[in-house]
Amino acid sequence: MSARILLVEDEPGLVLTLSDLLTAEGYQVETAMDGPTGLARAAAEPFDLIVLDVMLPGKSGLDVCRELRHQGKDTPVLMLTAKTQLVDRVVGLKIGADDYVTKPFEAPELLARIEALLRRSKREKLAPVGRFEFGDVEVNFENGHVRKAGLPISLAGKELELLRYLIDHRGTVVSRDELLEGVWEYQPGVSSRTIDVHVAWLRQKLEDNAQTPKHIHTVRGVGYRFSP
Ligand code: CA
Repeated sequence: MSARILLVEDEPGLVLTLSDLLTAEGYQVETAMDGPTGLARAAAEPFDLIVLDVMLPGKSGLDVCRELRHQGKDTPVLMLTAKTQLVDRVVGLKIGADDYVTKPFEAPELLARIEALLRRSKREKLAPVGRFEFGDVEVNFENGHVRKAGLPISLAGKELELLRYLIDHRGTVVSRDELLEGVWEYQPGVSSRTIDVHVAWLRQKLEDNAQTPKHIHTVRGVGYRFSP
């Protein structure tokens, strides 16, 4: 799947140039042209990376980044700063931006930074976790204890293994075939129906509303995607 990038930039010319450039590289590009819209979209939708201009109408890129991090969103942020804005670069990295590019920049430089950030975040996402929190759920994979809103939840062995697999691959789509191999190791009698049933159980136990899951999403025709 190609990475999905949110471009928050208010100069129409640059929006056009960058959208074309990134699309030509195979990325899916969405745009927002002011701070509040950028923040709203970045907070509500799954993006793999945000390219964020500092000088924006409505809300500066620095404030957008700060508020995203306060909301617990760890989407990689690449800041676009002007040459004279050394302070912005320092502040930007301090409040949680991952890297910056100084305007005016050359296309290859921007693309290299984007690729590096995407690679880094993919590596971090794949690192297995011992403990994980999402919403009001806390999971300790070391001892198998799970709590929701502070109350203990009992998960069967396969439910815990499935949850672990989804969390270890969070942000990416996991196919049913992959789950058959990775979680069930092709046990006889196990079908994709088994997976769907286990996912339904996990949702019942962990989601606020199993009908409208916020964490264990169905990707129609493919499988599932976990988002924290
Ligand atoms: Ca600007």
